[in-house]
Amino acid sequence: MKFNTKLESIETYEAGKPIELVVREFGIEPKDIVKLASNENPYGCSIKVQQAVGDIVQNMALYPDDSMMKLKNALTKKYDILDENLIIGSGSDQVIEFIMHAKADENAKILINSVTFAMYEIYAKHVGAEVIRTTSQEHNLDEFYTLYKKENPDIIFLCTPNNPTGDALNAVDMMEFLEKIDSDTLVVVDGAYMEYGAFKDESKSVSPKELIEKFDNVIYLGTFSKAYGLGGMRVGYGISSANIIKELYKLRPPFNITTLSLEAASIALEDEEFVNNCIALSFEEMKRYEEFAKEQKIDIIESYTNFVTLLLNADQDSTTLSDALLRRGMIVRNLKGYGMNAIRVTVGTKEQNDRFFALCSELL
Ligand SMILES: *Cc1c(COP(=O)(O)O)cnc(C)c1O
Repeated sequence: MKFNTKLESIETYEAGKPIELVVREFGIEPKDIVKLASNENPYGCSIKVQQAVGDIVQNMALYPDDSMMKLKNALTKKYDILDENLIIGSGSDQVIEFIMHAKADENAKILINSVTFAMYEIYAKHVGAEVIRTTSQEHNLDEFYTLYKKENPDIIFLCTPNNPTGDALNAVDMMEFLEKIDSDTLVVVDGAYMEYGAFKDESKSVSPKELIEKFDNVIYLGTFSKAYGLGGMRVGYGISSANIIKELYKLRPPFNITTLSLEAASIALEDEEFVNNCIALSFEEMKRYEEFAKEQKIDIIESYTNFVTLLLNADQDSTTLSDALLRRGMIVRNLKGYGMNAIRVTVGTKEQNDRFFALCSELL
């Protein structure tokens, strides 16, 4: 059978391995498995969310509120923006997909960082757009600007803090960069880890309100999958000018967010204290990763997120290490596919991290 030729060059995105797979493949008990591969919140979500979701289970027959009023009200209040500036997606992934279909086609060019979130490229290929990458591992705005001038891309993706490296842009530098971009180029600012970056260093904190007040060609992305501990609920959002949001809405399937997810995300916003505590704990635990790396004489990238990237030495292989960890029930992300001899590890709870340090020092 013949398929859309655009699919030929696409490598299927490999999500972080689920615990269920390790149970099946290696016969390890679920309780003995630690998953530090997908940057979820190891402390879970607020108890308030758990209670609210329990109440909804009795009312599953009806379609969700497609206006998403409760969640939209909570988000517009949080960010001090208008309804017309907001779109909710099934994860911010879905918003990236809308963006791609709204702005790009076979003739489009997409400018992204050399090492960044893999889905930008995959969605670009869905529409047949050309992907242009910078060369430096960290976002270098000078290089972005040079490539912007040379290639005139339709969309630029800035991921700050960046996945899978954990570094973050200075917000002032980013605003200066945006000033220089023509209004016909759409700039996506992916803030999936912004809660972490802003907590660690105020100068990394990007305000979506300020972004859309200053620029009508910029869209900010946020998600409930990381700091809010709702990775399983699939809720993300885009904040942009009314003009852009209006176009994205044309691509949104009805009822793209379940009743359960809408409620969970709405309630999660009522318990910011829980989220801040988790973030504080995460950075406390991250110090132990920095010490561990020092002891093991391996490099670590300074991280503004809830994960660390360990850059292995030449005599250590990230594929060998991550496979060996997996056989012992420890799931981490191998970055070989990104061209790096490195592993990305989500900062877990104290116990999970203890386990990682023990296994990893044994294997290295
Ligand atoms: C996790 C992540 C997302 C999207 O996550 P969703 O679960 O789809 O909301 C987007 N961008 C980056 C950089 C991420 O790491």
